[in-house]
Amino acid sequence: MTEPILIDTGRSPTGWSFWGSSFYCDQLWFITNVLQKQLIAADPLIQGSMGHTLLAHYYARVACKQGGLMYEGQEVTDPDYFLTPEQAVREWVRRRQHEGTEGAHFIANTLEVFRQYKLREPFVYDRVIGVEMLTKLTLGYNFDGDFGLWTDDNLRDPTLIDCPELPVPHPNVPAIYHGARIEMTKRWDLAMEHKQDGRQYVWDHKITGAGIGKTRAEQYAMDGQFAVNRLAGQQLLKNFGGVVLNLVQRRDPYGVSRQFVPATPFRDEQLPRQIFKKAHALAEMLAHTIKGDMGQGDWEMAQSELACYHRYGKCGAFDMCRFG
Ligand code: SF4
Repeated sequence: MTEPILIDTGRSPTGWSFWGSSFYCDQLWFITNVLQKQLIAADPLIQGSMGHTLLAHYYARVACKQGGLMYEGQEVTDPDYFLTPEQAVREWVRRRQHEGTEGAHFIANTLEVFRQYKLREPFVYDRVIGVEMLTKLTLGYNFDGDFGLWTDDNLRDPTLIDCPELPVPHPNVPAIYHGARIEMTKRWDLAMEHKQDGRQYVWDHKITGAGIGKTRAEQYAMDGQFAVNRLAGQQLLKNFGGVVLNLVQRRDPYGVSRQFVPATPFRDEQLPRQIFKKAHALAEMLAHTIKGDMGQGDWEMAQSELACYHRYGKCGAFDMCRFG
């Protein structure tokens, strides 16, 4: 028998974490992508990754006990194909240590979160369809001639970036250059078939130190990542039901809240054209930056009380914007 595997829960290459900030602050997009500054505090990110790793292995093994799942193009029915959740967290920490990320001091808390999670939900009634599923949408036309973001099976004619001044990408932004396809990727944390209504849902885990009150899904509704989830879900899942937020509180009093993310049909419909415009605007600014006729200070700043000092605290680039 082969060694059990560690599931990849890493971020997707051109996901909303790549595109999203450009829709509210070009300066922030420049700092995180072109300058490659890591602005989000490391600890919550590490705890979030460890929680995702744990849940991915838990649900993958549950899926095997329910009859199996497709994982990276392969049908898997043996739970021991995957590490146990506890082993996976330790292995994740061991591998990240080699890259200079220290997560060992969060292991005890992560395992306690898992214990609390299972106390609250000892049985999984819904059918697990997949875990950590990497999806990709490409901008262009489908076989009916409709412009949109399409999966490979539905894409007939991709729309390419038209920016001859940027013939090769900036070294830190490989996705944007003249002639490139415009892609949005999203790694689904989990896909589930609901036992009662038979519909298939995309689940998004949020391992949070904040509250898990009933308004959280509404707060997330307009976040672009959920539009991407929906556009991909409509094309990839049978009888798609929507997106579910699986909120897991990682500190006392702990807790789990599962909330349906309200749909945003008008916004979802506009997203393809908005991404088209945004990709071209970014390509042009990158071209000017490479040529040297545009510097950091020319990338527009949001300069807003709400964007610069949001509900999680100060934007990580606050002092860079303040003092340069
Ligand atoms: S502090 Fe404000 S202006 Fe500066 S990068 Fe953050 S959001 Fe943009």
